[in-house]
Amino acid sequence: MRAILLGPPGAGKGTQAETIVKEFSIPHISTGDIFRKNIKEGTPLGKKAMEYMDQGKLVPDDLTVELVKDRLLKDDCKNGFLLDGFPRTIYQADALEDFLKEIGQSLDYVINISVRKELLIERAVGRRLCKNCGQAYHMSFNKPLKEGVCDKCGGELIQRKDDTKETVENRINVYREQTEPLIDYYTKKGIIVNIDGEKPIAQVSQDIIAALRK
Ligand code: ADP
Ligand code: AMP
Repeated sequence: MRAILLGPPGAGKGTQAETIVKEFSIPHISTGDIFRKNIKEGTPLGKKAMEYMDQGKLVPDDLTVELVKDRLLKDDCKNGFLLDGFPRTIYQADALEDFLKEIGQSLDYVINISVRKELLIERAVGRRLCKNCGQAYHMSFNKPLKEGVCDKCGGELIQRKDDTKETVENRINVYREQTEPLIDYYTKKGIIVNIDGEKPIAQVSQDIIAALRK
C-alpha cells in the first residue's frame, strides 16, 4: 500500500502512523522526523532545515522533495510506504506524482485527519517525545507510565522546540495556507479518506484501518 497521512500539526499523524505501518508492514516516512534526526546529528541538511523549523515555516520545497525521492528509492519501499507530513505544498504533491509515475508507481490512499484548532494547540503543546527513540506521548491524553520517562526505552521525555503555543499557531496558519489545498487536490483524484481525528487514539486507528481495508 502506498499512502499519505495528511492533517494539521497535532492531528495525530505520527501517532496513527505507528499502527498503520504495523498493520500493512510498510515503512513510516516522516519528513519532520528525518529533519529532526539531521538536526540532532548536526548535518548540513539539519542546519539548513532548523532555520525554518524553529519558526514554524516550511523547509524549501526543492530540499524536501530530493530527500523524499532518495528515501522512496530504498529497498524497503518496494511494496509500499506511508508518508507522514509530505507533501505539504501543491509543488511537492506534483513532484511526488511525477516521480512515482517515473518509477511506475501510484498512490492508493490519502488519509486526511481533521481536528479543530483549539484541540490541535492543546495536543501539540502537551506533546512530549523520547530523546532516545522518538516515541510520542501527551501530558494528559497519552501519558507515559512514569512521568518524564519513555515506556519503551527508559529515555528522557522532552518537548519539541517548535511545540510552543506561538510556533504551533504559526504552523497551523502555514498549514491552512499551503497544505490545506491538498485536500481538494486529492479529493479530485478520488483517493482521499476523511477521518475524524477528535476521537480517542484507538478509535481513530480503527476507523483508518477499516477505511483502508475496504
Ligand atoms: P502530528 O504527527 O499530526 O503532529 P502527533 O501524532 O504527534 O501529531 O500527536 C500530537 C499529540 O497529540 C501527541 O502528544 C499525541 O500523543 C496526542 N494525540 C494524538 N492523537 C490523539 C487523539 N486521538 N486523542 C488525544 N490525543 C492525541
Ligand atoms: P512535523 O514533524 O511534520 O510536524 O514537521 C516539523 C517541521 O518540519 C515543519 O514545521 C516544517 O518546518 C518541517 N517539515 C516537515 N515536513 C515538511 C515538508 N514536507 N515540507 C516542508 N517542511 C517540512
